Amino acid sequence: MLKIGGMSANVDQGPMPVLFQAHGAPMLLDDAGWVAELAAWARALPTPRAVLAISAHWENRPLAIGATRPLPLIYDFHGFPARFYQLTYRSPGAPALAARVRELLVAARIPIVDDPARGLDHGTYIPLMCMYPDASIPVLQISLPSQDPTELYAMGRALAPLRDEGILVICSGFITHNLRALSLRETPAWARDFDAWTTDVITRGDVEQLLAYRQRAPGVRESLPTHEHFVPLIVAAAVGQGAPVTWPITGFWWGGAMSRRSAQFG
Ligand code: ZN
Repeated sequence: MLKIGGMSANVDQGPMPVLFQAHGAPMLLDDAGWVAELAAWARALPTPRAVLAISAHWENRPLAIGATRPLPLIYDFHGFPARFYQLTYRSPGAPALAARVRELLVAARIPIVDDPARGLDHGTYIPLMCMYPDASIPVLQISLPSQDPTELYAMGRALAPLRDEGILVICSGFITHNLRALSLRETPAWARDFDAWTTDVITRGDVEQLLAYRQRAPGVRESLPTHEHFVPLIVAAAVGQGAPVTWPITGFWWGGAMSRRSAQFG
């Protein structure tokens, strides 16, 4: 057993994988296929000591460290049936992980702030409800400090030691996220092209191309009218740098323009 910052980790299982997940809207909890895919994915992973979550739905500068005790969920979605506003997920807080994250970010000279009143948003808890439905794994969420690819890559590198400490880093967003294209009948070429380009760049570990995706990727303007859903993938790629990449979930949702593609590094 390895003791780090008050946490102990089983070093025998090797580095923890790092995940990027297409997180989906609340109604995806009714998508039995997706729920089963996430549950199977979790079963195939080593059991983490804690989860560090980074979601498209929390941007705060400087980088903020969220609550370290259980708080009510944030219902950061609008116009859904009432039952989705009664969802609960009482995962334990992760104060030891928060202390370790602080240590790593300070060492990397990344400015941080505490936000102890900030609970989990749907980008974090919807997938976790499918993966760990008993809410037994402690969860800490931190913010995206910006949408700048180079800055986010450095942030991910700073957090990479967590892989050796039994921490599962889950970054949650979408590779394509154009809400104006939800009424399409089939996947448009721009979504396919961007999804394929991203898959190739990530699989090859081509950091230079990834960081220049806004200038170089085909279909980027239509696939990402805004960038907050894509950039968590950059953090995941940085935490998992050098690890082999697999794609446990692929395809497209709703009108064919929203990529379901989700990555595992390591
Ligand atoms: Zn979202």
